Amino acid sequence: MADAHNAFVTRVKIEGAAEGPLSGATVAVKDNISTEGVRTTCGSEMLADYVPPYDATVVSRLTDAGATIVGKTNMDEFGMGTTTETSAFGATANPVDEERVPGGSSGGSAAAVAAGEADYALGSDTGGSVRCPAAFCGVVGIKPTYGLVSRYGLVAYANSLEQIGPLAPTVEGAAELLDVIAGPDEHDATTHNAGASSDYAAAATGDVDGLTIGVPTELVEGADDEVRRVFEGALDAYRDAGAEVEDVSLPSVEYGVAAYYVIAMSEASSNLARFDGVRYGESGGFEGNWNESFAETRAETLGDEVKRRILLGTYALSAGYHNKYYKQAQEARAWVRQDFEEAFADVDVLATPTMPVLPPKLGESVDDPLQMYLMDANTVPVNLANLPAISVPAGESDEGLPVGLQLVGPKFGEETIIDAAALLG
Ligand code: GLN
Repeated sequence: MADAHNAFVTRVKIEGAAEGPLSGATVAVKDNISTEGVRTTCGSEMLADYVPPYDATVVSRLTDAGATIVGKTNMDEFGMGTTTETSAFGATANPVDEERVPGGSSGGSAAAVAAGEADYALGSDTGGSVRCPAAFCGVVGIKPTYGLVSRYGLVAYANSLEQIGPLAPTVEGAAELLDVIAGPDEHDATTHNAGASSDYAAAATGDVDGLTIGVPTELVEGADDEVRRVFEGALDAYRDAGAEVEDVSLPSVEYGVAAYYVIAMSEASSNLARFDGVRYGESGGFEGNWNESFAETRAETLGDEVKRRILLGTYALSAGYHNKYYKQAQEARAWVRQDFEEAFADVDVLATPTMPVLPPKLGESVDDPLQMYLMDANTVPVNLANLPAISVPAGESDEGLPVGLQLVGPKFGEETIIDAAALLG
């Protein structure tokens, strides 16, 4: 099948078990999730020929449930980006408007679902990478509570922030996939018992009568007018269906993007040290001593955004600067967590636009890293607090571009956000 949007890095056909809840279904898997015998590139030249010797837990759960894996999807290199333009395998186009980005970093996964090339997809979300492309491509994406889904076999970008999550055309579909992948795993000590006997798909009823929805004003004010118009329309739909909508304040989110990027880059600088051309990754067979060879291998096979983050992360962790950057970021993280906890004492869920902007045109934002980081303002606080969130299509802009609504729940509150999101999709 032609890959009109460059959604896939590698096409495969891995047949699942003959019978199971997903038999007959096709799933596309982000290319940072390990597949035994099938290269797993992370969108990087460094890992262009890396073939994992084992399946990620989520992959074996999918095939055990009868799903057929149809490909490994394109992504920002190592998950670092918001547009899928930092991939070494070229940009992915948004199937809704091919001149625009699909969002990132799981852009190939969202594009594959939006274009009907897979029934479902898996992405990973460190700071919004499932929810952003879901919003930009007009599909549903879930970032589970930290620990609900095993990360065994996920190539780490920033371990303390990330989760694997499902993408699907509908809330119920995404919930079905979550049912299959959620639950404890002996290979990942951070996994939790919640989800062991879940039935998230059954929770997707759309019954919001009596539900209290908090709207954090700080995460709405900065959004584009068109995004706000669609968002307000979705809130009206919730009011009409019997929900109570009230403003709340999360003052700490002002520091969300800054804290997230310091923590994510610091963890990345440490995680990516293993890609040295010896333990993992391409080796150019360079001459010279180990330091020279290490530096040359990385200089030649890592992209600019990845290098920028390794440099900044190493700097933030270095002696003399650690307290100034990393420690402060951890303090801001604790404050964000506390703000959410306080909010959930009064409301059942929080609602924001998933992305403050409409999908940019290809090439428009990739050369302006700060602008790109600011697009993550509404998604990163959720990862800092390790909470569950869903992005569901809320409507379209004047030009027909999709706008996503994000619903955030308390820890392990997946049922509540899935139920509420089902009103819209
Ligand atoms: N855009 C964010 C970043 O670049 C989030 C990426 C992600 O969730 N993997 O870090």
